[in-house]
Amino acid sequence: MSRLIVQKYGGSSLADAERIRHVADRIARDRREGADLVVVVSAMGDTTDHLTELAAAITDQPDPREMDLLLATGEHISGTLVAMALQAQGIEAVSLTGPQAGIRTDTAHGRARIANIDPARLRREIERGRVVIVAGFQGSTGESYDESEVTTLGRGGSDTTAVALAARLRADACEIYTDVEGIFTTDPRVVPDAQLIPTIGYEEMLELAHQGAQVMQTRAVELGWVNDVVIRVRSTFSDHPGTSIQEVSAVELRDKVRAMALDRKVAKVTIVGVPDHPGIARAIFEPMADQGLNVDMIVQNVGHDGSTDMSFTVERTNVGRTERLLELLSKELGFEEVQADSAVAKISIVGEGIHNHPGYAAQMFGALADEGINISMISTSEIRITCIIAEDRIDEAAKAVHRTFRLQEPEAVEAELEGSAG
Ligand code: ADP
Ligand code: ASP
Ligand code: MG
Repeated sequence: MSRLIVQKYGGSSLADAERIRHVADRIARDRREGADLVVVVSAMGDTTDHLTELAAAITDQPDPREMDLLLATGEHISGTLVAMALQAQGIEAVSLTGPQAGIRTDTAHGRARIANIDPARLRREIERGRVVIVAGFQGSTGESYDESEVTTLGRGGSDTTAVALAARLRADACEIYTDVEGIFTTDPRVVPDAQLIPTIGYEEMLELAHQGAQVMQTRAVELGWVNDVVIRVRSTFSDHPGTSIQEVSAVELRDKVRAMALDRKVAKVTIVGVPDHPGIARAIFEPMADQGLNVDMIVQNVGHDGSTDMSFTVERTNVGRTERLLELLSKELGFEEVQADSAVAKISIVGEGIHNHPGYAAQMFGALADEGINISMISTSEIRITCIIAEDRIDEAAKAVHRTFRLQEPEAVEAELEGSAG
C-alpha cells in the first residue's frame, strides 16, 4: 500500500490563480513520488471575511443556517480550482465538499463539532487513483440527505478538518501548509527575531493556540493529541521541514519559556455594582453559556457595601451580543453599569517550565512596566501567564517580553529532545 498523506493548504497559500497552480505543483510532486493524497483546502485569501462582511451588509442578524451555507462556498471555490489545476497537469483529481467527504457534525451552526466521518467515498476515490481534494471547515448534520444541513466548524476550521481526516484514515502523515515556515516563538510578523521551534508538545501548542496563535486552530491540536496524530506545520513556499507537533517526553531540564501568544481579537467587559450574594455568578454566566458566549479571564473584585465589580474577557466579535444580554440581565439583577472595552489585547507566555519558576510572572510584569505599559488583567495556569493590556501597545509589549525571556535564542535542551523524539 502506498503512503497516505493528508495535507492542508491555508487561505493565503491559495490566494490567487498563480498560488493555486503552485499548490498543485507541490501536490503533483508528492503524487508522482507515489503517495496517496487527501488534500484539505481553505477558502482563497480573505474570502471568508468578505462573505461575512457581505452578509453583515444585508442584515445584522443573519440566519445561522444561511450563514453556514454561504461560508461553505468559499472552500468549494478553492477545492474545484485546485482539482482543475491538477487535472491540467495530467494528475487525476476530484474535489469533494465536506458533506460529500462524509464529514458529519452536530447542529451548532458556525461552531459545529465533527461527530463522525464516513470514509467510504474518500477510500473509493483514493482506490481509483485520484488525489482527493476536500473542502475544509465544513460538514453536514443528519444521516439522510433530505434532512441534512451544511455546517461550518468555526474560524480556522480547515486545520481541524485535516487532523480529523488524518486520524480517521490513519494517514501516515498530516501536513499543514501555511505562509510561515512553522511554529515560531511568537508571531514572526510582529517580532522579526522570533525563532522556529522544530518540535513542540501538544499541551504547549494547545495553550498557544488557545491564547491566540492563529497558526493552528485549537480544536485541531486537541484532536491531534487525543488521536496521536503527529502534525507537521510547514511552508507552502519553501522546503523547510517546519515544526512537528507531537508527544514530547517531559524533560525536567526544560525551564525556559517556550513561546508567546498574542491575541487582538478580545474585548474586556466590566460589570460595575454587581449585587454580592451567592448565585450571582451563575445568574450571569449561565445565560451567557446558553448563548454560546465564551468567557475567558474572570476577575471579581473585593466587595464593598454589598456589591462588587466583575470583569471578564470575551471574543471581540461577541461583545455586542454580550452587552445586549447583560443589559437584559441587569433589569433582573440590578447592575449599576456595564462597560465594554474592545481596544485591549492579550499577551501570554507559555512553557512547561513556568511552574518551576515563580520568578517568571514578576519578570513578565517588569518587562511591561519598563515600557510603561499598564496591565489591566492577569491570569495564570500551570504553564502560562497572561496579561491584558491596551491593544495599541501590543507590538512593543511583544518585543519586550520576547527579549526578556531570550526567546530569540534556541533552547539548550532542544538538540537533546530532537534526538529522543526521532
Ligand atoms: P492559513 O491561512 O495558512 O490557515 P493563518 O493566517 O491561519 O494561515 O495562520 C498563519 C499565521 O499565523 C502566520 O502568518 C502568522 O502571522 C500567525 N502566527 C501567530 N502566531 C504564530 C506563531 N507562534 N508561529 C507562526 N505563526 C504564527
Ligand atoms: N476559511 C475559514 C476561515 O477563514 C477556515 C480556514 O481558513 O481554516 O476561517
Ligand atoms: Mg488558519
